[in-house]
Amino acid sequence: MQKKISRIGVLCSGGDSPGMNACIRAVVRTGIYHELEVFGVMRGYMGMVEDDIKPMDTRSVANIIQRGGTILKTARCMEFMEYDGRKKAYENLRKRGIDGLVIIGGDGSFRGAQTFSNEFDIPCIGLPGTIDKDIAGTDFTIGFDTAVNTAVEAIDKIRDTADAHDRMFIIEVMGRDAGYIALHSGIATGAENILIPEKKTDINYIIESLLEKEKRKKLVNIIIVAEGEEFGGANELSKFIKNRIPSLEVRVAILGHIQRGGSPTCMDRLIASRMGYHAVECLLEGRHNVFVGIVNNKMNYTPLNEAVKKKQRINEEWMKIVKILAT
Ligand code: ADP
Repeated sequence: MQKKISRIGVLCSGGDSPGMNACIRAVVRTGIYHELEVFGVMRGYMGMVEDDIKPMDTRSVANIIQRGGTILKTARCMEFMEYDGRKKAYENLRKRGIDGLVIIGGDGSFRGAQTFSNEFDIPCIGLPGTIDKDIAGTDFTIGFDTAVNTAVEAIDKIRDTADAHDRMFIIEVMGRDAGYIALHSGIATGAENILIPEKKTDINYIIESLLEKEKRKKLVNIIIVAEGEEFGGANELSKFIKNRIPSLEVRVAILGHIQRGGSPTCMDRLIASRMGYHAVECLLEGRHNVFVGIVNNKMNYTPLNEAVKKKQRINEEWMKIVKILAT
């Protein structure tokens, strides 16, 4: 017979993303609604290993739905990669009687959760918290919408100054392995070109199209580059272009960590709340060791051991749209 769950822990692990707080709030309040005791684990798996765990009540998550970052803090934890570290973590959970865990993080955190759960029989539910939207099994990840809207706002501002001075800008956005922030923000800001890790960068095409635009006196060009793009990022690309077209005024802007922070958008608060609620329902229903996603607006459950970085081909039509609209 399935063991009844009475005490659960919630933690954030890996990179932070806006909406994690909304998610923690949903987990805590859904747990309390079901008369569970809920514990917050500080700094991801580190808090489990170092016994930094505290009881949560409905008030402890008041007034956080609109805040970026995470009140539980997040971290990467090397000790948890080793069996001894995970054993310590288990003992700290057991002494409080914690018998279920909700982990808000990326695919690495999910792999850790799966290993832990196999070894120690504590059911784990993952919730995809990452700005990169690169986990297969969900259309949305908590934080992506906010990050992309932050990028759009910044790029719009840069375009104003680019326009005033007839300058070209190369803007680097986050995305070491995935080009979703670049692709979405680039289309939404009318970028002339978008370079992403999933596609080969055709440098000759870029140079030719810049020369052609220069001939027509179209001097304001915005190129969006995801940080993991193969040419080496915005600075490398800028050097190359200045070398090939010395007459062009090229500036670089690297948006960096502003994309991780800030108040989550309505969309991120909504999916964080839905996913947080369903994580607790999963634990209670015995649907264990899955991560909760949303596909076609329905909840979708993927086994944690199948959580992989999305290596989905970028929709070719989107790339065609970029070219057609950027003339
Ligand atoms: P993300 O969850 O954002 O992908 P990481 O890949 O850095 O971030 O993983 C976060 C943490 O999850 C790691 O610091 C480690 O504690 C834990 N973790 C990741 N992979 C494993 C694994 N294979 N076994 C055990 N723990 C892991």
